[in-house]
Order: sequence, then C-alpha cells, then structure tokens
Amino acid sequence: MKKRTFHFSGKPVNYYFDASFDVLNKLVPVESAVLITDENVFEAHKKKFKGWSTIVLKPGEQYKVQQTVDVVIDQLIELGADRQTTLIGVGGGVITDITGYVASIYMRGIAVGFVPTSLLAMVDASIGGKNGIDVGVYKNMVGIIRQPNFLLYDTSFLKSLPLSEWQNGFAEIIKHAAIKDAKMLQELNQNDLAFYQKNKKALAALIQKNVEIKVKVVQKDEFEQGDRKLLNFGHTLGHAIENEHALLHGHAISVGMVYAAKISQVLLGFTGTGLLVETLKKYGLPTAMHFDIDAAMEVMQKDKKKANAGMQYVLLSKIGKGVYETIPMKTLQKLIKLYS
Ligand code: NAD
Repeated sequence: MKKRTFHFSGKPVNYYFDASFDVLNKLVPVESAVLITDENVFEAHKKKFKGWSTIVLKPGEQYKVQQTVDVVIDQLIELGADRQTTLIGVGGGVITDITGYVASIYMRGIAVGFVPTSLLAMVDASIGGKNGIDVGVYKNMVGIIRQPNFLLYDTSFLKSLPLSEWQNGFAEIIKHAAIKDAKMLQELNQNDLAFYQKNKKALAALIQKNVEIKVKVVQKDEFEQGDRKLLNFGHTLGHAIENEHALLHGHAISVGMVYAAKISQVLLGFTGTGLLVETLKKYGLPTAMHFDIDAAMEVMQKDKKKANAGMQYVLLSKIGKGVYETIPMKTLQKLIKLYS
C-alpha cells in the first residue's frame, strides 16, 4: 500500500493506492462507519462487507436522484448516524457522488471516504470533490464541491467489473493522456485492454498516474474557473450524442474526442489524430458514428459550456497538450459536418 496526501483548498486528502479493503477498519472504526454501496458491488463482494453497517442501493444513474438521497437519510437516522459517523461510498461514480452529497448535508456535513470500485470512479468520478445528483434530464444539476477525507484503492474489486465499464474507464484514461501526458498515450498505444486486465501491477501504476493527473488539474482549479475545463475534452459533443443515441458514456466520449481531434487539425494544426484513433480502438472504443448533427448542435447550445461568443471547446495543440478555445457555433457546425 502507498499513502499519498494531496491538499485541496488547504484540506489534506489521503489516498491509499494499491491497498486492500481490509485496511478500512484501520482508517475508520467499524462502529462509527456507515458504508453505502449498490446491489451489483454488494452481491459480487459480499464477504468484504461483513461486519460493516451497510446501506445497499439499487444500481444505475436513474437512482442518482433526490429520492435516493431521502431514502439514505432516513436509513442513516434509523442507524443512529451522528456527527461522529463517517460515510464510506463503496462503488462506482453514482455511489461516490450520492455518498459525498449526502455526507455534505447530513447534520450539516459529516466525514466521508470513498472506495471506488469501477475503473471510471477510480480515475475520475471519486476525485476532486464534486458530488451531486441529477434532476430530471439535467445531469449533476444539484450538488457541491467538497473533498472527501480519504480514498482507498483496492483493484480486486475490478475482477467483477463488466467489460463495458472497463471501456468507460479507459475512455477517461485516454482523455487524460491526450490532454496532459504524451508518454502515457504512447504506453496505452503499445498495450491494450486485455493487458491491463491481466497485469495487476501495470494497472495499479496506471490508475495512480491517472489519479495524479486529475488531482493536479483540480488542485490548480478546484472551482472550475480554468484548467479543470480541460477535463471536458470529448465531452461537449460526447454528452450531446450520448443522450440522443442512448450510448455508453465511454463510447460517446470516444467519438467526441475523435471529432475534437479532427477540429484541432483544422484550427490548430494538430497532427496526432491517427495515434489517438488507433489507441481508442485498442480499448474497444468506437471512433466514428452517424448521428443527427442538428439535434446534437441543439443540445450543445443548451450546454453549460456555451459562452456568448460561441462554444467553449477543448482542443489539442499536440498530444499531451489540451487547450480550450471559444468556437463560434456556425464554425463548429461546419467542422462537425465536414467530418461526418
Ligand atoms: P456507476 O456507479 O453506475 O457504475 C457503473 C456500473 O458498474 C453500475 O452498474 C455498477 O453497479 C457497476 N459496478 C461498479 N463497480 C463494480 C464492480 N467492482 N463490480 C461489478 N460491477 C460494478 O457509474 P460509473 O461509470 O462508475 O460512474 C459514472 C457516474 O460518475 C455518473 O453519474 C457521473 O456523473 C459520475 N461522475 C462524477 C464525476 C465527479 O467529478 N464527481 C466525474 C465523472 C463522473
């Protein structure tokens, strides 16, 4: 196990990498902890939860809503949770988002820790302190930026992770490489999904590297004034087509990244599209698809990243160097049409 402490807004957050779930009781006494997980994680790892007070929620994004928050709060009251209680979210991004949010409002805020169990939650969702819920069609509409006390990484959870969720995680990993780390993109290009599924050491190292990238971006810009926006690479168009075509998040982001790379070719003379596309394919991610451009443009218009002069879009000046630019809507539409 490797302990690293990162500071956010002056608050230290402990990260326990390459750790085992068994050490959780050294971080938080069993009697003052309440674990929150979902049915999939609970069923696949029942033994790990033995002896812990656990709230088991239904899995899925559709449950990341206020009604679930109410249910959790009722159960916490029933369990006698108080200001000394630590909530621990053991699950994917839905669980860590709900747990972080509930912890921030229950009794005006109690301690919280995360044990991310999906690859996406490990490298992305559980890092950075953003916690929230969806409201109707609006994702993450209500929430808060508040850091957890600790994160514990146990890759043995990933043994039960479905393939599609591995792909979702790798879409974000490739995104990190594209915007921040050219060397990592080369490494990803030389390997493939099966390699990391089999090679525990390489996977643990890759996860830690990705955590460090996201932590660094967030530390520079915790409240999303600047650099944190780079993490939206592939997400502007990605989100628009994700809902429209009911795509897997990672698949939509993958297509979004390819379009952003091609737009970067025209606007910034970017030359790495081939490498990016080849790498995405090695992780089972799609790099092209037909979609309704006008419908996608309409969703993007409503997107929160729209500035008055046009759309705030993350582009690449080279592999490992994300930049954000404001692109007039008409130019954006023309460029997207050009590559469809
Ligand atoms: P998720 O929590 O829905 O997990 C995906 C699926 O994998 C679920 O069915 C879950 O039950 C299952 N699962 C998780 N771990 C498993 C395991 N070890 N074994 C078997 N099954 C397992 O979603 P996700 O993909 O982890 O995260 C997506 C969510 O994260 C979205 O709600 C998104 O908004 C949020 N998110 C938040 C941030 C942030 O900064 N707060 C950043 C990115 C994403």
